[in-house]
Amino acid sequence: MKLTKVIRQTTLDSVEGATAYDAIIVGSGAAGGLAAAHLTREGLSVLVLDAGLTPPVWQRPKSRGVNAAVRLMSRPKALQVLPSGVVWRAQTFLRAMGRDRQPVQSSCYAWPGLPNGFVDDVDNPYETPEDKPFNWIRAHHLGGRMVVPGHGKQYLRRSLAGFAAKSEANPGWPIDAEALAPWYETVERQLGLYGQNNGVEWVPDSHITHPLEPDPAQTHMMETIRQEWTGAKPVLGRYADPMDNMGQAAETGKLACRIGAVASRVCVSPEGRADGVEFYDRRAERTVRAKAPIVFLCASSFETTRLLLNSRSGAFLVHSGSEGGPLGRYIMDHVSVKAEGMMPDRGIADKDFNLGNCVYMPRFDLRAGAPEGDHSGYGMRIYQVPGPGQQSYFTAVSDAEMLPRAENRLTLSNRRDRWGIPTLRISCAHSEREKTVIKGQVSAVEAVADVLKVKLNDAKIGASVPGSAIHEVGGARMGDDPETSVVDPNNQSWDAKGLYVTDGAVFPSIGLQNPTLTIMALTARACAHAVA
Ligand SMILES: Cc1cc2nc3c(=O)[nH]c(=O)nc-3n(C[C@H](O)[C@H](O)[C@H](O)COP(=O)(O)OP(=O)(O)OC[C@H]3O[C@@H](n4cnc5c(N)ncnc54)[C@H](O)[C@@H]3O)c2cc1C
Repeated sequence: MKLTKVIRQTTLDSVEGATAYDAIIVGSGAAGGLAAAHLTREGLSVLVLDAGLTPPVWQRPKSRGVNAAVRLMSRPKALQVLPSGVVWRAQTFLRAMGRDRQPVQSSCYAWPGLPNGFVDDVDNPYETPEDKPFNWIRAHHLGGRMVVPGHGKQYLRRSLAGFAAKSEANPGWPIDAEALAPWYETVERQLGLYGQNNGVEWVPDSHITHPLEPDPAQTHMMETIRQEWTGAKPVLGRYADPMDNMGQAAETGKLACRIGAVASRVCVSPEGRADGVEFYDRRAERTVRAKAPIVFLCASSFETTRLLLNSRSGAFLVHSGSEGGPLGRYIMDHVSVKAEGMMPDRGIADKDFNLGNCVYMPRFDLRAGAPEGDHSGYGMRIYQVPGPGQQSYFTAVSDAEMLPRAENRLTLSNRRDRWGIPTLRISCAHSEREKTVIKGQVSAVEAVADVLKVKLNDAKIGASVPGSAIHEVGGARMGDDPETSVVDPNNQSWDAKGLYVTDGAVFPSIGLQNPTLTIMALTARACAHAVA
């Protein structure tokens, strides 16, 4: 059956009338979509609840009009038919207009590609302390952030060291790389990765479906960097187009999917088993309850944590969710430094250009071959995009690891969202150690620009506001001990059997790699556990 038909058939009557689905999944992004595909393939009847629903034009004429214009001006065709100065001025003007309802979301570089897919910040507010800003970038629509045009598409495994304990505050993962390896491979095969294996310890080899060789511009870039810094190990990025997990799940005939369903609470039976999910139905404008003995929370790290915080009642989550408990704590995002400019072309492949095809330098802090003391450090991705004449656009993004700290946390605020659900207060800041790392990242991007003969823009180079890397994780970390973690090594809640959390909320540490491949591998593994 086609997904559109599944959505049409999932009426509120059918959801309320169902005695129980085998499983309910909250969210249809990288985690939720994959869970839907895996669980339905195993024969389970699955209900996916997804918050996304674009309001009709007559309800939001101004923002719908602005967003349509934003999208139009972001198309490459606009650049071909209009002078670049006109396009630039129109984009700047429209972005300012978009700030009206999406002040946070419009700060994301990819917002113009799908403005209606990102949340309306007025309807979906959150708070931060005044001196601790946080950019919480969210997409509420089928497929989640992974399917936003302009998504980075980088899918890298965590290094072996990424799972290890580093300090008392950073206890490591309750599973190791070996436990996750088969699940990484399962997901990589599904993704159909483009890239190259290099045997570099910081970027474990993957299953590559489409082997790539560097193009002349990348070869020049990588050789120049190797000559300059003997300890640098530039490799090609590994990328893939988004998967159609929800479409695959629909084809099994076992899927139901309700859109515009904002989950607010997990329901737990008196015996301590997951029992279903309560959600606000945006179309029917009322609260509804759906029943299932298995619940997968895949609403994205912070949204999932918010759901858990909102679910505290009776005996459920009273311990891990108490003031001193682990729920809501140890949130992280990559410490990100970005620089942009123009560089000589040197034979970049214009035809079939794919943004995912970048150069990645893992542990670039060790480029001078310094001894490895701290396991953290930083890496750097370099994007070279065809530009005007003999020039190309240069973007360098350096991501460093933010260490997990209990005081970086999520709590419930007194504010409510448009649907009456308590919202989050996000308190997250860089530590003194991270501020020192940032200085190293800034000099590293400047040094790379210098070596590659890049003319950098005038913008001051410094760390982005936390959240801007859009790799936010933590809040319901996994561990061996219910005293210090929220879920067990199989992603199952310590408090309620049948409740699985499989998005980035469970990360005990962020590591250096982009998080989504690990989120999907954990999800695939948790699905197998739930089915067994
Ligand atoms: C522009 C951009 C580029 C990126 N590039 C990369 C990259 O190159 N590599 C990488 O690894 N990561 C990248 N990321 C991050 C990556 O997209 C996320 O890590 C990943 O999408 C997280 O998947 P998820 O399923 O946990 O959450 P999401 O993709 O955010 O999906 C969450 C889903 O839950 C739904 N939802 C939310 N709240 C509720 C609720 N209360 N009730 C019901 N449904 C709800 C939403 O509608 C959505 O479908 C990028 C992100 C962006 C925005």
